[in-house]
Amino acid sequence: METNKYNIMPTKDGFYGNYGGQFLPEELKAEFQRICDAFLFYKDDKDFNSELNNLLKHYAGRPSPVYYAKNLSSKYGAEIYLKREDLNHTGAHKINHSLGEALLAKKMGKTKLIAETGAGQHGVAIATAAAIMGLDCDIYMGALDIIKEKPNVERMKILGANIVSVESGTKTLKEAVDEAFVAYSKEYQTAMYAIGSAVGPHPFPMIIEHFQSVIGREARAQMLELAGALPDFVTACIGGGSNAIGIFSGFLEDESVQIFGVEPLGKGEKSGENAASMTYGKDGIIHGFKCRLLQDSDGHPANAYSVASGLDYPGVGPKHCYLNEIGRVKYDVISDKEAINAFYELSKTEGIIPALESSHAVAYGIKLAQKNPNKKILINLSGRGDKDIEFVLKQFA
Ligand SMILES: *Cc1c(COP(=O)(O)O)cnc(C)c1O
Repeated sequence: METNKYNIMPTKDGFYGNYGGQFLPEELKAEFQRICDAFLFYKDDKDFNSELNNLLKHYAGRPSPVYYAKNLSSKYGAEIYLKREDLNHTGAHKINHSLGEALLAKKMGKTKLIAETGAGQHGVAIATAAAIMGLDCDIYMGALDIIKEKPNVERMKILGANIVSVESGTKTLKEAVDEAFVAYSKEYQTAMYAIGSAVGPHPFPMIIEHFQSVIGREARAQMLELAGALPDFVTACIGGGSNAIGIFSGFLEDESVQIFGVEPLGKGEKSGENAASMTYGKDGIIHGFKCRLLQDSDGHPANAYSVASGLDYPGVGPKHCYLNEIGRVKYDVISDKEAINAFYELSKTEGIIPALESSHAVAYGIKLAQKNPNKKILINLSGRGDKDIEFVLKQFA
């Protein structure tokens, strides 16, 4: 068997170098082992893969195209390509792992998905996957977020999900994660926890990466076909790191390809103003895994902020931490302001309104283009910006 130099699997304990692992209450360890065993079986199972691939193709709309952004390219002097995850059903890459997790849950005999959501994007993708798979769905959401994210809450309800309002603490994502996990600990025999990014205790980072790696596999073949060569640069935005690890995984073994993860600098370098965990974090443990973590002076997870709510997580996926440590992937930052500019720039030059999350990658791709004339730059356009229009107009028009 061919062994990978960079694109490694985790150890049996779930570590990528120093990062990852499984920090769990004792009573859940056996269940997580069952999830791990089921995943390792089904990922190579013919029926499972044919069912999943059928859904990805006919339901989610894959393969998503790679588009050569001609106008943007001629303006900035490099060849800029976009991997169009914004064209997926539900408008982002999150449907890829949501369908995978839901199908895995169903094969394991579970009848319910439990998830938490902040801005509601993950909740909508999971509620969608639960609907198509015929599973019940409990979405935990902070009471304040329920008010703030009304359109997504309504979407989830229409899709048949049960929204559980979380009234404790700051009434936002942090408490929603805690309460969802407590509920799951009581219901794990019939329910599956559906994590929303390449984070959490082992085996979830491995599972999410597997289901998102379709982006990188497609993109590599599409670049060879469309551009006649691999890209010189690949870039993607990083919240927990699922869309990024999905596209990066297709290029990690190609040493000619330089890879950049883009973190949100938000309003600045100070604690509480950004969500750049790799850049400003220190090693720590959050939500059952070890990673680079934004921390306050007492070592507790700090408040994370970004104009793009899908990026404001204080931790980052363990495989990214490993790829940073060995230097295979470079991690850099883009500010709120740069992201907003890129949001308008892509809209006006190409007629594509990107999600604010994806706008961070677009901004970075444009910076790379300005410094590297004639090179091929592949940007992962993780989602579409319809959800952000009202907010952008209110704040930045
Ligand atoms: C949720 C989201 C992200 C961030 O999540 P990752 O796990 O880091 O990919 C990025 N882009 C869009 C459009 C999202 O909805």
